[in-house]
Amino acid sequence: MTQHLKHFIEGAHSDASDGARMSLVSPVDEREYATAARGTVQDVQRAVAAAHHQLRGGAWSQLNGGQRGLLLNKLAELVQRDLDLLADMDASAIGRSPMEPRMMDVPNAIANLHAAAGWANQLEGRTIPTGGYMGLKTLSYTIREPIGVVGAIVPWNSPLMITTWKLAALLAAGCTVVIKPSEETPQSALHLAALCQEAGFPDGVVNVVTGHGEVVGRALCEHPDVAKISFTGSPEAGRAIQRIAGPLFKRVALELGGKSPQIVFDDASFDDAVRGCTVGIFVNQGQVCAAGSRILVQKTIANRFAEALAEAATAVKVGNPAEPGVQMGPVAKKAQQDRVNRYIQQGIDEGARLLAGGVSASGRGFFVKPTIFAGATNQMSIAREEIFGPVGTIIEFDTDEEAIALANDSEYGLAATVWTTDLARAHKVAQALQVGAVGVNCWSPLDANLPWGGLKTSGIGREGGLSGALAFTEEKVITVLLP
Ligand code: NAD
Repeated sequence: MTQHLKHFIEGAHSDASDGARMSLVSPVDEREYATAARGTVQDVQRAVAAAHHQLRGGAWSQLNGGQRGLLLNKLAELVQRDLDLLADMDASAIGRSPMEPRMMDVPNAIANLHAAAGWANQLEGRTIPTGGYMGLKTLSYTIREPIGVVGAIVPWNSPLMITTWKLAALLAAGCTVVIKPSEETPQSALHLAALCQEAGFPDGVVNVVTGHGEVVGRALCEHPDVAKISFTGSPEAGRAIQRIAGPLFKRVALELGGKSPQIVFDDASFDDAVRGCTVGIFVNQGQVCAAGSRILVQKTIANRFAEALAEAATAVKVGNPAEPGVQMGPVAKKAQQDRVNRYIQQGIDEGARLLAGGVSASGRGFFVKPTIFAGATNQMSIAREEIFGPVGTIIEFDTDEEAIALANDSEYGLAATVWTTDLARAHKVAQALQVGAVGVNCWSPLDANLPWGGLKTSGIGREGGLSGALAFTEEKVITVLLP
């Protein structure tokens, strides 16, 4: 039965102001399984007004950090209660195996909420010694105030988890929010907003407007009462957002794409590195911002490593994730399938050696093959551009310096992995990499207490941990004359 999803504004479900809807299609069999309200500028205005009211004298503005923390912990408990439901929503929307969100995304969402609950009453100011004022003593101190109404714009690849990176931190800081989920995956955000209501958050603190980026996302960026845009998605949309929000001097945080290197030294634990690289490039069909898609391997082990990785890729069972034994579902949408196939063809045309996978024939469902290229150079498009699919590109190197230079020769700078058993080498290389996060002998460790974000085209700002919560505050300094 087709579900009809509506916005969640000021604690109530509602249709778009003009009644328009958009279709949600299963990537497994291409059938419409739901429709969602296709939001309008008027819908955004209504949601922002509700969020703004809660900040300016509404019940939310009266709560202290401890009280906000209690609500966040309650919300975490409700997400825990609905773990399977939320995991299934996110998994079925993009054709992913529900095991992944059950084991990773939803537990991370719960951890984000608990961690933020802890920060809520610890966003302290400072007392700062000064030289006084015109010969008189002064007392100067800072306070942390909520930044205001946040527009949270979210992609489709890990919808719940990414929504909570933003939501948990901004609620801890005392902000309110209008969430704009991806066109493909509005379900878990809508359910999360309903759980906020059940937890006791005042209506209007958390609102969800579904619809298209160019309309709903854009309206959030343009709205004068939205103080900050917290965006996760593609660099192209990030640039479009900056063009609108920049001249309005809105705060903007951008979590964008990546082409993250995994550097495998010949002293690495071979099997661990093969396993880690396999997960790093194939989890969620490679639709992960931190996907370890550039696999830099030391020449001395390159052939053996490439063979082992190709073997692991070929062993991955692709199909309907609802069927037993299937490890990889389709990619999320037709455009994504076409994009992955286009890059694979480009890799072949540019002269990389195809060891596993290849261009997938079209059929029912947006399936692609786990693909490994070897003998690539760092100049090829499969080494430079974010494919956002299950395609790993192996590039060989000789020395540590060469590995570092290759890793840093990228327009992106999100994450990196170093595989080695040499402790000094691990630290030296990790410190030389121009990225926001490095995993040593572990691919992309996620933790609610760690800051996350990138350099260069990978974005601006940090989410997660104390850095994430502080990013939703403004620091105000107060100076009192002590005559
Ligand atoms: P996308 O940029 O197409 O869409 C992301 C969101 O932005 C969607 O909600 C979309 O509707 C909205 N949007 C699109 N155009 C907009 C505009 N002009 N103004 C305002 N909003 C707009 O990205 P996607 O395809 O959903 O996600 C894939 C991208 O997200 C990849 O590049 C991936 O690397 C990146 N990503 C980054 C992180 C990270 O933490 N750095 C995490 C996950 C995904």
